Amino acid sequence: MRKYKLIIFDLDDTLTPAKSPADKEMIFLLKKLLDKYKVAIITWGKLETIKKQVVDMLEKENANLENLYILPTIWTQFYVFKDWDWQLIYKESLSENEVRKIKAVLEEALEKLNIKPKKTRGEIIENRWSQITYSALWQSAPLEEKKKFDPDKKIRKKIVEYIKDKLPDYEISIWWTTSIDITRKGFNKAYGIKKLLNYLQLDPKDVLFVGDAIFPWWNDRPAIFTGVDYYKVENPEDTKKLIKKLITNKIVIIMSWPSGAWKTTLWENIKNDEELNIDKVITTTTRKPRRWENNGVDYWFVDVEEFKKKIKNWQMIEWAQVHWNFYWSTYDELERILNSWKIPFYIVDPQWVETLSDVLSEKWFNVVTIFVVPPSEEELRKRLLKRWEDPDSEEFKLRLKESLNWLKLKDIFDYVIINDDLKEAEKKLKNIILQYK
Ligand SMILES: [Mg+2]
Repeated sequence: MRKYKLIIFDLDDTLTPAKSPADKEMIFLLKKLLDKYKVAIITWGKLETIKKQVVDMLEKENANLENLYILPTIWTQFYVFKDWDWQLIYKESLSENEVRKIKAVLEEALEKLNIKPKKTRGEIIENRWSQITYSALWQSAPLEEKKKFDPDKKIRKKIVEYIKDKLPDYEISIWWTTSIDITRKGFNKAYGIKKLLNYLQLDPKDVLFVGDAIFPWWNDRPAIFTGVDYYKVENPEDTKKLIKKLITNKIVIIMSWPSGAWKTTLWENIKNDEELNIDKVITTTTRKPRRWENNGVDYWFVDVEEFKKKIKNWQMIEWAQVHWNFYWSTYDELERILNSWKIPFYIVDPQWVETLSDVLSEKWFNVVTIFVVPPSEEELRKRLLKRWEDPDSEEFKLRLKESLNWLKLKDIFDYVIINDDLKEAEKKLKNIILQYK
């Protein structure tokens, strides 16, 4: 994961089950997160709703609310915590004229289309300042009843069809079970996020957006067009896993390259850097050591018996068979490094990065992946030739093909370093690692 300065959360189904309060563990984790990061919550709900769902509980736990930013009411309001209370920074509202016009068009549609619910309690057309919401039943109607009302959205589509030409400057959307939202065009999550970044003077690259509805046409979608990174969760449990990684500071670095040709140079130059305090995770193998290889430096060399024992004891993080030999990475080895208060540093081939990173992430590690690539494909070819010399050899052709394929994996990495100048690449690599300390 990249190093972020601000984490923005969607509320419903991301921090809490829809419209419900956050549980104790979530509050505990958010409190910890607020000690280390700026945090924002952006949602369609009102300030009072966010308070009930999350913020009041954080306040009770004495969380550092000065690091919390709230963008409620379809993200068109913005609050910060100052002098022991929530201060409004800005608020976008529809004008009285706009409200009147939208309400009139809606009422006309309901009349003409003869859509009137049998019974309602409370307003069915509600002014939410930056948005007019039509709820065919009333807001607090039982969910079961709401679900039955318009499951295929046919009724609401008819209404939208009727009003859309009469309200060309407005965004009309169908959400939830019974409602239609009408707001000024451009009032979406991106709008709120841009305001927030501007207020905090942050680069989108330093920001992570976390939401459950990132698919096209869903309400979190516009967020990603602001240039921020995004993280898709299924539910609040997923979000908890992410927060645990952000707060525990258990960092593991995985570095990879598309070619074996100059694999060790960069590592050799940084491995003893005291400021970095890193240690290479040494792979264990059943392969026989080559003449120049040392046990505990290049690999841990063991026999097949030992390998079988490790499998039985569930001590392996990952393993692979290459030709007749086994290669694997053990929890023992990771522990050896962590016990010496160093950062574990993996150097692996690109095809292992995703699985290794997944397994370690499950263990609450904040996995940072770095890909070091040559400046061009031509340069990659040249570097490979230095090693294999004969451009017509099968070995060279095979390596080149493999390396070019690996190069395509670059999008899965958190950071890509272009290695056109070794000293520069070294500096970039150091700076990335130092951010996490
Ligand atoms: Mg959501």
